[in-house]
Amino acid sequence: MSDTTFNDFNISNDIKDAIKDMGFEKPTSIQKMAIPEALEGKDVIGQAQTGTGKTVAFSVPLLEKIFIKDKSPQAIILCPTRELSIQVAGEIEKLSKNMKKLRVLAVYGGQPIGRQIRALKKGVHIIVGTPGRVLDHIDRKTLDLTGIETVVLDEADEMLDMGFREDIEHILRFTPKNRQTLLFSATIPKPIKKITKHYQKDPVHLKIAKKDMVVPQIEQYYFETKDKDKLDVLCRLIDLHDVKLGLVFSNTKRRVDFLVRNLKKRGYSADGIHGDMTQNQRDKVMGKFRNEKINILVATDVAARGIDVPDVEVVFNYDVPNHNDYYVHRIGRTGRAGKTGYAFTLASGRERKILKTIEKHTNTKIKKQKVPTFKEMEKIKDGILLDEIKESVNNDNLKKELFLVESLIEDDCNPIFVAAALLKKIKS
Ligand code: ADP
Ligand code: MG
Repeated sequence: MSDTTFNDFNISNDIKDAIKDMGFEKPTSIQKMAIPEALEGKDVIGQAQTGTGKTVAFSVPLLEKIFIKDKSPQAIILCPTRELSIQVAGEIEKLSKNMKKLRVLAVYGGQPIGRQIRALKKGVHIIVGTPGRVLDHIDRKTLDLTGIETVVLDEADEMLDMGFREDIEHILRFTPKNRQTLLFSATIPKPIKKITKHYQKDPVHLKIAKKDMVVPQIEQYYFETKDKDKLDVLCRLIDLHDVKLGLVFSNTKRRVDFLVRNLKKRGYSADGIHGDMTQNQRDKVMGKFRNEKINILVATDVAARGIDVPDVEVVFNYDVPNHNDYYVHRIGRTGRAGKTGYAFTLASGRERKILKTIEKHTNTKIKKQKVPTFKEMEKIKDGILLDEIKESVNNDNLKKELFLVESLIEDDCNPIFVAAALLKKIKS
């Protein structure tokens, strides 16, 4: 079972080749379970955390059903945010790169509707969009859903949290009754169950076991600290781990602003996103973070919804989140695609209790770690530096540098002192 490969699925070579080019070797659990069921045409409820590969799980079966010659929309994917819509459309483009003439379009608020209307007129097979904008197109009669065969509700719980329930139901009623409906969500609260009852036919409920929910390659630690010391502790941890791409979560907009201001003051390259910023402002910050022009992104839970930042080394919880599920969502931003990620939580005395319930809920162990003192930091950093030097001595081509060192020694410098002077230079 664990040895399933993409070749075991009954899918076209075009898609298999594309998956190979994307670098995916083995399907994730949710892909293993959902792809065969969806290929058979069944309605699916796929319950799995962020970062488990749900996009491929629904995109592959949906692509298999597309009839290229018919240039009207055959599949529609509803997503909670604009970022997520763009991301999903991008993933589908990659998966379908060998399917000539396949068109996928992301439609979302904030982009001039005229551009979307022109694109729709040219013919589109797959629509990815936020419920509000999709409905807008339906009202304007610029989007015809009568040919839809597959509907996907992606991150359904987040869409409902954001108040899209009526829009979603409205859109579903515009699609043919004999459609296939795939619903993906990290959690299945009551309102979602209701939707599945009304709008799915005899769905198979696939669930990634709770113990698998928090991806095991995330190492989770917490640090006990007073609220007023949190900024210092955060900075120490960023320095210690030499974080190049870190995501810091805080519970309120005000604290996000405070953190960004103070991190910048201390010389960190940081920026923040929260709900009071315009979409344009948020996009700019996200772009900088993706291109690694900033190292630290500070965000509230709401602002971070749906954003995909590959390869975040560390997620910091500057505050313990208010909901159990938030914790899972937050740390799901690291440890993706087989890499080890780290989640560091700063917890004040009061927050320790909340963290305990999170541990229980997610069925994981969040280990306590001591906040390193400045002295200890020094020691740890020295150790890392010495390791790096050893590594370089063993593996690097040092010809040019050796030549320079030899010239120093010819000038009567003691080699040990030469090395010590260099270390002093590096560390200053
Ligand atoms: P979710 O929607 O469950 O949060 P995504 O679909 O966004 O997850 O996928 C999370 C990450 O994992 C993405 O970067 C994606 O490219 C990657 N991924 C998806 N499937 C696989 C796979 N089979 N093997 C390795 N990485 C994968
Ligand atoms: Mg997703």
